[in-house]
Amino acid sequence: GFRCGIVGLPNVGKSTLFNALTETQAAQAANYPFCTIEPNVGQVSVPDERLEQIASIAGSAKVVPTQLAFVDIAGLVKGASQGEGLGNQFLGNIREVDAIVHVLRCFEDDDIQHVANKVDPLTDAEVVETELMLSDLESLEKRVPNAEKRATAGDKEAKLIASVLGQALALLREGKPARLTEPKDEEEARVFAQAQLLTAKPVLYVCNVGEEDAATGNDLSAMVFEKAEREGAQAVVVSAAIESEIVAMDPEDRAEYLAELGLEESGLSRVIKAGYKLLGLNTFFTAGPKEARAWTFPEGAKAPQAAGEIHTDFEKGFIRAETIAYDDFVALKGESGAREAGKLRQEGKEYLVQDGDVMMFKFNV
Ligand code: GDP
Repeated sequence: GFRCGIVGLPNVGKSTLFNALTETQAAQAANYPFCTIEPNVGQVSVPDERLEQIASIAGSAKVVPTQLAFVDIAGLVKGASQGEGLGNQFLGNIREVDAIVHVLRCFEDDDIQHVANKVDPLTDAEVVETELMLSDLESLEKRVPNAEKRATAGDKEAKLIASVLGQALALLREGKPARLTEPKDEEEARVFAQAQLLTAKPVLYVCNVGEEDAATGNDLSAMVFEKAEREGAQAVVVSAAIESEIVAMDPEDRAEYLAELGLEESGLSRVIKAGYKLLGLNTFFTAGPKEARAWTFPEGAKAPQAAGEIHTDFEKGFIRAETIAYDDFVALKGESGAREAGKLRQEGKEYLVQDGDVMMFKFNV
């Protein structure tokens, strides 16, 4: 599955956020007694209002949301890229995630010590980013000259590497993230993805603000939003303190409390949804009397690949997918209505699955 890694300086609210994310799962954990997970990894349900709609139309007994993993990556120390024990592990952990959720302290609180004794999210962000850039820089300063040598000897793959990673190296030398690299074609894009550079991963900035700023953000979070805009990154405003308060509430109390604060939905929901989008993930649904369920697929996936998310046999023996668009499913009140209206489509192997599709797969065993 896909993973988001939570990073940031000490004392910015990472653990508070991570614990709130995973505590929302505490109730559900009872339903998965055999699912043992690493302590720093939380499987989190992706909120999706459409799933409830589908379940009520299909009369499903159970609702099963799709999940996204969050990893708490503690332990950033200055000089991490110098390969000191803990720092090295920190960078290794980042290498293994698909996207970075970077928590920035945007709240004032004299009781909570700041590592630099000043609340300044842009400088904080730079400290973390510098370590990641130095790590990429160090690795490319070996790989690029090496590839250039092999390229002159006629190695085609090395030529690709030299070209696209050479571009990344030039950016890093200017103090810019490798994310800004523009591969010339699909081959270069493939080589670039394989390089797994830390600063090529998509980033979501989480501005952790005080409770009073939860609905509006503040001057500090506004600066982070501008930064995100410049970098092609995403940003959300969250108050980790509120989130840790409301996880234990039942849904009605929570909705009431959020409304009092001027919030439409919890910050966690927004973080999860933003992380999902950042990763280019979409959702299709299956619906029946037993359960309505959401499934994750990467943007651009074809029907057999989506089927494979349910079971590998569905992919191997794929025949066709009976598909109803979400809007049709709702407007025509479910499968039989959609069928009568000619809105249940028979789709084959080449069908590009659309976000919201309600699907049923036909397959050979
Ligand atoms: P981490 O080191 O980044 O994991 O930070 P923690 O989540 O452990 O938080 C550090 C301290 O800041 C804890 O005492 C938290 O209770 C506190 N904290 C976290 N978020 C907020 C917030 O939004 N407002 C205030 N006032 N304190 C917070």
